[in-house]
Amino acid sequence: MAHFKIALLPGDGIGGEVIGQAVRVLDAVGGRFDHSFEYSEDLVGGASIDAHGVALRDETLEMCQAQDAVLFGAVGGPKWDDPKASVRPEQAILGLRKGLGLFANIRPVKMLPILADATPLKRETVEAVDMVVLRELTGGIYFGEPQRRWEENGQRQAVDTLAYSEHEVERIVRLGFETARARRGLLTSVDKANILDTSRMWREIADEVARDYPDVTLEHRLVDACAMDLIRHPSYFDVIVTENMFGDILTDEASMLAGSMGMLPSASLGASENGSTLGLYEPIHGTAPDIAGQGIANPMAMILSAALMLRYSLGLEAEATAIEDAVTDILAAGHRSADLAGDGDEPLSTEALGNLITDAVAGG
Ligand code: NAD
Repeated sequence: MAHFKIALLPGDGIGGEVIGQAVRVLDAVGGRFDHSFEYSEDLVGGASIDAHGVALRDETLEMCQAQDAVLFGAVGGPKWDDPKASVRPEQAILGLRKGLGLFANIRPVKMLPILADATPLKRETVEAVDMVVLRELTGGIYFGEPQRRWEENGQRQAVDTLAYSEHEVERIVRLGFETARARRGLLTSVDKANILDTSRMWREIADEVARDYPDVTLEHRLVDACAMDLIRHPSYFDVIVTENMFGDILTDEASMLAGSMGMLPSASLGASENGSTLGLYEPIHGTAPDIAGQGIANPMAMILSAALMLRYSLGLEAEATAIEDAVTDILAAGHRSADLAGDGDEPLSTEALGNLITDAVAGG
């Protein structure tokens, strides 16, 4: 029997509601495939600010570093929204990314044909969508120094810095090639090379790394053109690789292609050591304050994030597929959460959907 240690960081809002269902599904996987999961839970985000005065404690980071993987819900909410506050819930996410060395965010965006009518786009535009977006996570304008505000001659001034080193670009671009190689073999590298020096360097490095992957087609696209093509012809894309801020924006745009924020998982990976990759797994949605506490959140993005954890950090491919198949099957059987329900559908609660997926996984 294999034994795995998992950190659970539910966070705020619906984070705790959806992570609870993911744990039940993982336990069902354990029962069926003879693995055991040991969970260590801690507060992050607003909940940690309320209890400890900071969004992420050093102890919490150390606890995560000692696990095989981290499952993360979401952080934030109106209670902690003051933009002038020096302590903010999202500092937990940035701290975990830095502290765990998570440089790559992987977001698969796949349209389940059964949900093609749940997107704001036309069915024929989205039904063949099947792409992976890779976003660089620990460099770029969210981390560059200087980053500050000041006053000059009675005028407010502010500066942010967009900086990348060769090493940071090379490792994420290489992961893009590896991902494309295992799929359709098309890598779209997205930049703003007509304006930015960091982008021109990014393009140069991508061309150099391409020599190691003759089986993959590399193309370059400007971020504005890519944003347009994601809506115009989304099924064209196979793997997209891009820097931190462009990726932040494009991944949210891409999420609309799959029907609902409640459906999309993500993985944030660090370097691999001795064959294992520490990763943090979270749904792409936030804490959904508008529905928190009502028991109606869609748990599928969180449950599919647990599937990515099994695949990327624990090397359990069959187990990951079992979860993904269970989600597809219960949707095919017509079960819907409130965010996916159409006219005539009776929406199920978070827990009822968790029950169905848990049973489907346990029963094989
Ligand atoms: P959100 O993703 O929380 O919600 C956007 C909309 O999608 C809402 O109408 C919400 O009800 C719906 N939604 C989201 N997840 C859902 C689910 N699982 N099931 C059903 N419906 C779902 O984004 P927001 O409203 O912009 O942000 C709310 C809070 O979450 C903010 O404080 C924001 O900072 C935070 N946030 C956190 C993360 C994170 O922790 N990674 C990511 C995004 C937003």
